Amino acid sequence: MVISAKNVGQTYRSGGRPLTVLRAIDLDIEAGEKMAIVGPSGSGKTTLLGLLAGLDQPTTGTITLLGQDLAALDEDGRAAFRAANIGFVFQAFQLIPTLTALENVLVPLELAGALKQAKASELRARASDLLGRVGLGDRIDHYPAQLSGGEQQRVALARAFAGAPRLLFADEPTGNLDADTGAIIIDLMMELNEAAGTTLVLVTHDLDLAHRTGRTVRLAHGSIASDVRTPLPASSRAPSTATI
Ligand code: ADP
Ligand code: MG
Repeated sequence: MVISAKNVGQTYRSGGRPLTVLRAIDLDIEAGEKMAIVGPSGSGKTTLLGLLAGLDQPTTGTITLLGQDLAALDEDGRAAFRAANIGFVFQAFQLIPTLTALENVLVPLELAGALKQAKASELRARASDLLGRVGLGDRIDHYPAQLSGGEQQRVALARAFAGAPRLLFADEPTGNLDADTGAIIIDLMMELNEAAGTTLVLVTHDLDLAHRTGRTVRLAHGSIASDVRTPLPASSRAPSTATI
């Protein structure tokens, strides 16, 4: 199990009354698995994804990633753990507008590279290579405002893959894209995912996309309403490393 949530709950206490948005979530995700989280707006999808990725800490329960109990780490420890193991694609891309495509991809590389004392020139070469793989080799010096939505999402994807994460999370990665561009992004995620055996957890409203992952968890009012595995089409079969 690379991701394990036990009795996870989240209660927000900003404002007046406490608001419980997730309750008693139990979820186990295996290495190399691809999983979609679906559910109506406000059902807790983004909250759950953030907790599973270690961006936030749950109010109750425990989350274990790659055998590490996240609550056992302090804030810096969690940041280092995320830099080494986790990629996250935010819903609205969240590229840094004052940095070029290459510099945006370099941000997590520098975070992770600092740990491994990698050379700056090697990191730039890797960032450039990643952008080439998402089809943006001729756009590396463009700023986000000079890129289309689909191109920005591809930069966000390259950035999420930059640290060669074992776990990749994506929040509605096709939500802001037209159907054709969305399909390119999904193919890329599946491809990169299969090549590296990366575990993929994504939130989506697109049921066709959810179906392509092979496992769909449906949230309703902060609880898991269903957890369904469907046979995968041949083109998106799980990588062989999934069984290790
Ligand atoms: P989804 O992604 O399924 O649309 P979210 O996880 O974003 O749902 O939100 C679930 C509920 O939690 C919503 O009702 C939202 O208003 C509330 N919520 C999300 N983040 C916060 C926060 N930081 N403080 C207070 N309430 C929040
Ligand atoms: Mg959301």
